[in-house]
Amino acid sequence: MSHDVVLIPGDGIGPEITRAMRRVVDATGVSISWHVAEAGAAQIERAGTPLPPETLEAVRTYGVAIKGPVTTPVGTGFRSVNVALRQAFDLYACVRPCRSLPGDGSRYRDVDLVIVRENTEDLYAGIEFEAGAPEVDELAGIVERSGQRAICPGSAISIKPISAEGSRRIVTYAFEYARRAGRRKVTAVHKANIMKATDGLFLRVAREVAAAYPDIAFEDKIVDACCMGLVQDPQQFDVLVLPNLYGDIVSDLCAGLTGGLGMAPGANIGDELAVFEATHGSAPDIAGKDIANPTAEILSAALMLEHLGETEAAGRVRAAVVSVLSEGAQVTADVRRAQTGAAAGAVGTAAFADAVIAHLG
Ligand code: NAD
Repeated sequence: MSHDVVLIPGDGIGPEITRAMRRVVDATGVSISWHVAEAGAAQIERAGTPLPPETLEAVRTYGVAIKGPVTTPVGTGFRSVNVALRQAFDLYACVRPCRSLPGDGSRYRDVDLVIVRENTEDLYAGIEFEAGAPEVDELAGIVERSGQRAICPGSAISIKPISAEGSRRIVTYAFEYARRAGRRKVTAVHKANIMKATDGLFLRVAREVAAAYPDIAFEDKIVDACCMGLVQDPQQFDVLVLPNLYGDIVSDLCAGLTGGLGMAPGANIGDELAVFEATHGSAPDIAGKDIANPTAEILSAALMLEHLGETEAAGRVRAAVVSVLSEGAQVTADVRRAQTGAAAGAVGTAAFADAVIAHLG
């Protein structure tokens, strides 16, 4: 059986790592019809938008996509293509497994946890007002009339919506995932001591949902304490469920526990569609040099193969990556540097993919 998959190469290191990933997936023998679709700054001139309608249409048609990272301008310019995709298709669950790999160069061993990040709400909703916008005055008026502390003139405002429905579906997803994956504990991460309305609602709903899963342990942790716990003793965690912004930050922290951003795969899942992508960004500092680590993208493809029902091929991809890393002779510069302090003897992106293909069995 052949699978239709939309491939969005993205920009920065995206084209290099997605090329490597595609070669590995094709070498498994699983038949995939790749539908290449574009996104990113380069599309603005051609299509007037960084996320052209034909790309959205392709994802809608085929239901499964894998993408490379896309650069988002900081402070000004267009909004994140990644966030737009997640919102357009209601890909509400971002699932990021963080597992120690042999030879990953990390200070930690035996880390095995899964981040389940809410993907559509919170400060990522994109509801923002620049300093000086008339809406800021209106909002300041509402705040003043409510008797809360006045907003300083000249402020910009970002709004943090968190709904009961959004919280319920992400926490339910986390518990269902834990049950399916044979995991024992879910930790809800929040800052409800300070943001009593928004994070307080998330926590209340999390406790309600937890009550329906007596077979899985539940705890909650304040996000700052959780970060310290992750650094001191990551093995205490199993599945973490977080609102959008904390999920973003804690994902990178956990990537750091397991060999760095080049190693951290991810999936954005909705009820109808799924988009797979590495946790990292477009790494403009190393783009076009054939030095990026494609492991995260290749492991994201393994998650995609599992989603497509190709579990045997997914297992072979993972095993091949583990073999190459444990042999240690052919690793990319980020891993070599983490292992030895220098990049000497590292291989490039394409050569790493060749090594994985040679180990597919
Ligand atoms: P980044 O993840 O691109 O890079 C952070 C650091 O990690 C850099 O030093 C980079 O060289 C390194 N790195 C990242 N991926 C690597 C890999 N595969 N191999 C080796 N080293 C790797 O984060 P950033 O620099 O903050 O962001 C760059 C751009 O990417 C920004 O425009 C940001 O908005 C965007 N971004 C996109 C996505 C996405 O498309 N899903 C996610 C995060 C950031």
